[in-house]
Amino acid sequence: MRVLLIAPPGAGKGTQGAIIASHFGIPHIGTGDVLRDHVARGTPLGESVRDHLDRGELVPDEVALEIVRTAFVQARVKGMTGYVLDGMPRTMYQAQAAYRMGKELDMTADVVIHLEVSDAEVTRRLRTRARIEGRSDDTPELVAKRLAIYHTVTHPIIAWYAERGIVVPVDSSKPIPQVATDILVALRIRESRLAAADGS
Ligand code: AMP
Repeated sequence: MRVLLIAPPGAGKGTQGAIIASHFGIPHIGTGDVLRDHVARGTPLGESVRDHLDRGELVPDEVALEIVRTAFVQARVKGMTGYVLDGMPRTMYQAQAAYRMGKELDMTADVVIHLEVSDAEVTRRLRTRARIEGRSDDTPELVAKRLAIYHTVTHPIIAWYAERGIVVPVDSSKPIPQVATDILVALRIRESRLAAADGS
């Protein structure tokens, strides 16, 4: 199962990504997590993107794509072709480049889970997360900026995937276990359709 999670900040990508990964036994690749880890370790990559993260702006497309390429190749080496990608793609350029990369490695996405939740709800959730986790980009100003980037740059790519018939919208304003159930049911259905198509 190869899954993309596309959603605004605070919609639960990380949480649901971990649930999907453990349910299907596939790697969970969170580009934001990988970037924050590089920043925390002070690697050259981390230093080059620290300001982008601190300003709530997207890192360059090539940086995000390189993280995914590395993760795909690592998964392949372990003989795994499934994945759940959270936080990627975020631009049309990334979506098209990730598709070409997937074609090359025979790892194109089977399904895009689009987590839908209102700006008011994610703003409320991120206020709580700011108190608990202290993420540098969860301040009210940066949350507003990240939401604006999501609506103008990221959200339009959903239509591109919808043309390929692989988008599943999920109401992410519900409690976490309910959202997880909705996602897993949708993925199970998708999985059996893929298996049937493979066998035909
Ligand atoms: P996230 O953890 O998904 O909320 O991502 C946190 C931050 O990491 C974002 O605000 C961006 O600065 C950066 N980031 C994560 N994924 C990407 C991506 N695919 N493209 C560009 N920037 C990204």
